[in-house]
Amino acid sequence: MGPVKSLTEHLWFEISHRRGYARITDRVEALVRQSGVQEGLCLVNAMHISASVFINDAEQGLLHDFDVWLEELAPHAPTTKYHHNRTGEDNADAHLKRQIMGREVVVAITQGKLDLGPWEQIFYGEFDGRRRKRVLVKIIGE
Ligand code: ZN
Repeated sequence: MGPVKSLTEHLWFEISHRRGYARITDRVEALVRQSGVQEGLCLVNAMHISASVFINDAEQGLLHDFDVWLEELAPHAPTTKYHHNRTGEDNADAHLKRQIMGREVVVAITQGKLDLGPWEQIFYGEFDGRRRKRVLVKIIGE
């Protein structure tokens, strides 16, 4: 074992619509390079309860399908159908969508690179956008 290295960084997002999806694999990979970690783990998590980090195919049709499916499962409107929105918020659907798509991903680092499957890409999923939000990246290893 060599000395343990770690890196903690935040990625900032401001999606201009209520919902949106951003591929962030390259930004995470750049942080892995910056960390100098050759063998370890990389955690990427949304720090907001109305946004997700997930891994799937970078294919526009599929991202559209996810969006339609989420809106069918938890439609934004009518906002009055959700108890959470009685607080004065209108984002109950965003909390539900985030729960389905997940909070975080953990990716192995092997020989200094994210050890992803051939079609795996990391995404930020926004379900209540138009404001600044953060994703935490924590890299640890040797
Ligand atoms: Zn809320």
